[in-house]
Amino acid sequence: MLTVNAYAAPSATEPLVPTTIERRDVGPKDVLIEIHYAGICHSDIHTVRGDWGTIAYPQVVGHEIVGVVTEVGADVTKHAVGARVGVGCMVNSCRECENCLAGAEQYCLKGNTGTYAATDRDGTITQGGYSTHIVVDEDFVLRVPESISYEAAAPLLCAGITTYSPLAHWNAGPGKRVAVVGMGGLGHMAVKIAHAMGAEVTVLSQSLSKQEDGLRLGADHYYATSDKATFSDLKNSFDLIINTVSAQLDINAYLKLLALDGTLVNVGAPPEGLPIQVFTLFGNRRSFAGSSIGSIAETQEMLDFCAEHGIAPETELISADYINEAYERVLKSDVRYRFVIDVATIATPAA
Ligand code: NAP
Ligand code: ZN
Ligand code: ZN
Repeated sequence: MLTVNAYAAPSATEPLVPTTIERRDVGPKDVLIEIHYAGICHSDIHTVRGDWGTIAYPQVVGHEIVGVVTEVGADVTKHAVGARVGVGCMVNSCRECENCLAGAEQYCLKGNTGTYAATDRDGTITQGGYSTHIVVDEDFVLRVPESISYEAAAPLLCAGITTYSPLAHWNAGPGKRVAVVGMGGLGHMAVKIAHAMGAEVTVLSQSLSKQEDGLRLGADHYYATSDKATFSDLKNSFDLIINTVSAQLDINAYLKLLALDGTLVNVGAPPEGLPIQVFTLFGNRRSFAGSSIGSIAETQEMLDFCAEHGIAPETELISADYINEAYERVLKSDVRYRFVIDVATIATPAA
């Protein structure tokens, strides 16, 4: 076992604090990664605050992990010592169910093993990336292309893939009108990726305060949802809407913005439900869908796509002692557009 420094939530209501955690011995198919950067996803906050249900504490979160391989098990063939690698939202799956065999292990019928707050095969609770090292099965480790900096690569492992996957699945591209609701971590990546895919991109944000940024990141149009006219002006006008909002909103108002056969894909994960008025779906034969992260193969495809198109997230690098303040800023939609922790600043906890 390896004892490593980490930042953990002691409970749902207390700030995160420095601590140590144990990492398992490197098994035959495992790689040991020295983590350099970890992004802060809103899911980290939902999880530690118990928004999605009770979890075991202390809990280390973080599933946008980038670093260097420092040790490999005897049977590892995919990653060598010194390789630049990433780990996203899952670290294992059953590998034998219909969905795993179809290459959709994020939808593993037995449940994929989340990078944190999940029960691992050995019965322990997985601990995430706000830590100096992690041990992961090589099949769930991604190659980070040379042209993407470590810091920029981190948010791609969740925000990047969670938006790339539905955009690719629902064929965002030339001639497609795509709207992105909420311009935070996921939303700003959706704008960049949809633009690179060739779609016409519209941002629907609470206010116009990020308009200049949105247009700079690749949006063609930008509207404030606080302005009621937005919902009448844009009625029946999108082929695809990606909703990244972390809170409840009037989803029917957004569904009405879909054109014939349009789909609204919800990736935002508010604790409360989103009640649907079915008549809204009857109009224009609309669809309401969800999407969860992406497969390992698709995550690699996304990393290579971002390298090819020069896509990188807008990041704010922070030291570990700023994590709690960063959480408050994310909750206030005051993030431009992803906080990334410099893991070298995770200090040894006081004895
Ligand atoms: P984030 O950075 O906080 O972005 C969310 C954005 O939603 C905010 O920047 C804000 O954008 C908008 N927003 C927030 N509160 C709102 C409210 N009350 N009403 C309207 N708009 C509001 O969060 P994130 O990291 O991108 O994550 C977004 C959501 O996706 C979270 O719920 C997260 O758990 C979920 N998620 C899901 C998956 C998946 O696999 N499906 C993966 C990762 C994350 P504006 O200021 O521009 O309006
Ligand atoms: Zn995430
Ligand atoms: Zn499976």
